[in-house]
Amino acid sequence: MTASYEVRGRVGIISLNNPPVNGLGLSTREAIYSHLRSAVENEEIKAIVIVGAEKSFSGGADIKEFGTPKAIQSPHLMTVIDACESSPKPVIAAVHGLAMGGGLELAMGCHYRVMLSGASIAMPEVKLGILPGAGGTQRLPRAIGAAKALEMIVAGGVESCDDLFQIDGQTLIDRLLTSTSREAFVHDTCEFAESVAQVRPLPMLKNNSARGAQSDSDLNLLFDSYREKLSKTSKHFPAPFKCVDAVEKTLILNFDEGIKFEREVFVALMQTPESKALRHLFAAQRSCTKINDVPPNTPIRPVQAIAIVGAGTMGTGICINFLNALIPTTIIDSNQAALDRARASIKGTYESQIAKGKLKESELTNRMQCLKTSLDFGDIENADLVLEAVFEEMSVKEEVFKKMDALAKRGAILATNTSTLDINTIASFTKRPQDVVGLHFFSPANIMRLLEVVRTDKTANDVLASVMALAKKIQKTAVVARVCDGFIGNRMLEQYVRQAYFLVEEGCTPHQVDQAIEGFGFAMGPFRMYDLAGNDIGWAIRKRRYKDKPHMKYSKVADLICEQGRMGQKSNAGWYDYAPGQRGAVVSPLVERLIADFRKEKGITARSIDDSEICNRLLYALINEGAQLLEEGIAARASDIDVIYVTGYGFPAHKGGPMHYANQIGFKAMTQSMKGFSQNPFDDQAFWTPAPMIQKLLASGKNFDD
Ligand code: NAD
Repeated sequence: MTASYEVRGRVGIISLNNPPVNGLGLSTREAIYSHLRSAVENEEIKAIVIVGAEKSFSGGADIKEFGTPKAIQSPHLMTVIDACESSPKPVIAAVHGLAMGGGLELAMGCHYRVMLSGASIAMPEVKLGILPGAGGTQRLPRAIGAAKALEMIVAGGVESCDDLFQIDGQTLIDRLLTSTSREAFVHDTCEFAESVAQVRPLPMLKNNSARGAQSDSDLNLLFDSYREKLSKTSKHFPAPFKCVDAVEKTLILNFDEGIKFEREVFVALMQTPESKALRHLFAAQRSCTKINDVPPNTPIRPVQAIAIVGAGTMGTGICINFLNALIPTTIIDSNQAALDRARASIKGTYESQIAKGKLKESELTNRMQCLKTSLDFGDIENADLVLEAVFEEMSVKEEVFKKMDALAKRGAILATNTSTLDINTIASFTKRPQDVVGLHFFSPANIMRLLEVVRTDKTANDVLASVMALAKKIQKTAVVARVCDGFIGNRMLEQYVRQAYFLVEEGCTPHQVDQAIEGFGFAMGPFRMYDLAGNDIGWAIRKRRYKDKPHMKYSKVADLICEQGRMGQKSNAGWYDYAPGQRGAVVSPLVERLIADFRKEKGITARSIDDSEICNRLLYALINEGAQLLEEGIAARASDIDVIYVTGYGFPAHKGGPMHYANQIGFKAMTQSMKGFSQNPFDDQAFWTPAPMIQKLLASGKNFDD
């Protein structure tokens, strides 16, 4: 049973017990429903308490059941909530820890809510492209006022119950207790239950007004302003707009009509491609933390002190992550000026957060106290993890890893932040290759959530488990890759960008390519992206590629821009022009002329290319390479690739990542287009042969999820 029942005096206690978050899956719903009936039928029982076992009340619906028959099998969550609300005896929700989504809806269906100080609540459904579908949009406004409820339901954020308790006239929290343990909290809630056992009629949130302290005209303005804001920030997502509509209904319709509206919208949103994509990503983010051949009980090497070698752009950004988690970190560099710059930059980052009210002065002090800078390589000796972030040259990595091997303590994890070099080779510079792992952070490393964890042929399981735990601690989304040139993200990006250059060679302007893919939903097109990152980075990589991969066809159009010194925003000129100090990209007539001259020289007559061809060539290049990575075992799951692209490369979340997108469009349509691209003499014709995995999926009628 995922909910247990006990009787204490005149109170029946239903304890939700479905680890890890007391999800309200079918078995839990059945158990609550049947315990509730027993309690109602037992004449000795005068009040009923619903409480969560372990650390929380309930994390809400069981998302694994979404889209399965169990989700709609009786008793539905609505039925359970109705049973609570219509119980002739008072039902009291005892909320400690967290009550989210369906968990909060269940609590709001009870007659009273007793909360433990420190507890939090949230309505996060919007993040899955839906809205609360078990009365949440209709009861929350009636509990805390439409204005605050709107904020919570549209943003999906977590709110402190202590703060909500302060809202004038709120009816969400009847008592805020400060009991010292869960057990004491249950005891204190039972006392409250006894005290309300005789109260009639029983209070129900559905009978309240949602107006709160606001006037009608203020509320109308509020709804309008939300809609206007969302039209800029959420144009690809229908759910936030529907959340506004649903909350607005609490002022226009009666409760039953409002519930009917909520249900219809909930069912419709569940079917939208945006919600399917967001739910896919939610599940993908959970599964990417699991490594098939590394059991969950693998012992962890504690990481209590860190050393970073290389105080450049990456070393500095990476360091901030560890300081934020208050892990003592030493940055080592051979250059004192680099160390001084790193310290100043870290302090500057914190100071600007203080100026924005996002950090307290005391937090800055605590974090800076964890930082040490040093010119002495010997200072890595106490580190549990040593991370190398020096120049991207194998000879420099060799020198540094040999020193790390000689000086780091036994059992220390030796990590590299290389973006392109062979980590098997780097590991071979040490006598402990099992301790070596790639930790590929993305720039700016203190902001980008993605972390590619690169396992070599010899990386030990406990090293992998330890860095995954560390990633969680510093709030990164870690995805495991095996060694290859570019790992997962950059290897796919190379094919995407190669297509962007071919498209320009054949007739597009850089702006046209950017606009088309930004219209698809990418945060930034490839040309604006490279202007931001610096065109010199890609230039250096291409020069190496021309030598390493002579069989691969490249357009040289990008070299032309670099040869003119147009390195991007940092030189106020790249694929676009930039006014000094400004980030706004302005179409450059000079670049268009350079491209036109380039075509003339190569004998190419520019042709008109539509947005659909632009998007398909860029996207199918990503998907084809992604399929190849799966075939080679570099990526373990298609969904891992989606997580990488959405969290690290600006792929639109509402499309669910490249591999999910491929599943949606279907392999037949995709391979037919690819066949067309393979006829194009200006493209890399060989590349467009569908990867073997795509051919297999096409033949079997399966998709990447299978
Ligand atoms: P950077 O040039 O900004 O910094 C490198 C630092 O290493 C310099 O401060 C230099 O003084 C120091 N250094 C060089 N040799 C050293 C030695 N032998 N001992 C001690 N210190 C030494 O470089 P970066 O951009 O921070 O890149 C560092 C690593 O991170 C590279 O491997 C790069 O490929 C990788 N990376 C970079 C990015 C990016 O966007 N910049 C993204 C991901 C990964």
